[in-house]
Amino acid sequence: MGEMSERSVPGEGLVKGLAVTLRTMTRRSTTQQYPDVAPELPPRSRGVIALLAENCTVCMLCARECPDWCIYIDSHKEEVAVPGAARPRQRNVLDRFDIDFSLCMYCGICVEVCPFDALYWSPEFEYAEYDIRDLLHDKDHLGEWMATVPPPPAHDRNGEPAKEEATAARRAAAPGGPAARPAPARVRPEPRPAAGRPAATEGPAADPGAAP
Ligand code: SF4
Ligand code: SF4
Repeated sequence: MGEMSERSVPGEGLVKGLAVTLRTMTRRSTTQQYPDVAPELPPRSRGVIALLAENCTVCMLCARECPDWCIYIDSHKEEVAVPGAARPRQRNVLDRFDIDFSLCMYCGICVEVCPFDALYWSPEFEYAEYDIRDLLHDKDHLGEWMATVPPPPAHDRNGEPAKEEATAARRAAAPGGPAARPAPARVRPEPRPAAGRPAATEGPAADPGAAP
């Protein structure tokens, strides 16, 4: 009896398949007519990488972590005289920063690891070239993409606080932290002290032995 119920009716699969075909045929098409109609991409889409060269310290982290080895960086050292310092300081000057987008796999590791916020994603994606060599974007070209980087998203009131905010709150709540210490004494504004006399203060910071 059980065996009979498990047997399928001849042609049942065919009918089911045709029903799916019929449903799909009558559904509205969602084809986007690119390039006549621009696609609606999410604002944080990974289109192209933009470089803010002023923030780059030539730490080489991005080039080392790139799985495709498609970031090329050259730099030289420069001496900077610091007023009051015994010796001049040295700083790295960025000479070359190229990304080869014909090799890049858009993994985003370089943007993630940059400790100085020098790399950003831009949603721009229309930079196809007829010559593959033109997909090597140099420092200036990468800098031009900065104008297309969207502003950071608004702060999420229900999201996790920033690392810096959480650390400050933890320190403030710790025993002996700023919250546990007494509030600093407030200088009483009135009456104004006479010339040559110290201003009177309230609370524990007031010096009882001070001359009137
Ligand atoms: S997105 Fe990935 S592959 Fe492309 S340059 Fe950055 S680290 Fe390299
Ligand atoms: S990780 Fe950032 S700061 Fe370091 S070399 Fe790359 S872009 Fe410059």
